[in-house]
Amino acid sequence: MTDSSPALSEERAAVADACRRLGAEGLLIGTAGNVSVRVEDRVAITATGAILAELTPDQVTVVDLDGEIVTGGLLPTSELDLHLGVYHRYGAGAVVHTHAPMATALSLVLDELPCVHYQLLALGGTVRVAPYATFGTPELAESVLTALEGRSAALMANHGAVTHAPTLDKAVEHALLLEWACGVYQRAAALGQPRVLDEQQQIAVIEAALARNYGTTQSAPSAQEGTR
Ligand SMILES: [Zn+2]
Repeated sequence: MTDSSPALSEERAAVADACRRLGAEGLLIGTAGNVSVRVEDRVAITATGAILAELTPDQVTVVDLDGEIVTGGLLPTSELDLHLGVYHRYGAGAVVHTHAPMATALSLVLDELPCVHYQLLALGGTVRVAPYATFGTPELAESVLTALEGRSAALMANHGAVTHAPTLDKAVEHALLLEWACGVYQRAAALGQPRVLDEQQQIAVIEAALARNYGTTQSAPSAQEGTR
């Protein structure tokens, strides 16, 4: 993403790509959910009412950080305040909000998704469930922003999920990871009481990940670049 022109044409296309991918993965259903990416003080964000799994770049509107439309002929999502709040408070680069089935199901019954798998540490560990408020309201945005403190993901009670990250690709990855973890928890909870990683186990994972540069491909000692 190097296009920093006010039109954000590359970013609008990237948001449309991300929505189609999340739709194909079953996380964005119909018009429910929204995705945005920020470049400095401009935000490319999905339009309200658009079918997200079929989204095209012209269904992505560009706004400034006050929510004023800069480029695009369609009104932005009704959760604009939530997205802008995440940018203002956490300096994120991208935000994904879904009504993904597993995440939404858990949001009906849990107060938090415990840290039952070490991959959840990529989201900050335990994922809080933000108290319910009507969609599109400042109350909902505030509730979710509070739940995101120190985290890159939150569940939204009786509503869905939100993730953020420095980049759009990473925010999408976080959304997929959260949905996977919710599915794992749901299956486990049907069988018994899921074990939770304690603080010591979580710290050990973070130390091991830092030591091994976890999550990136790495050349084997004998490998030569370009040969495998
Ligand atoms: Zn929603």
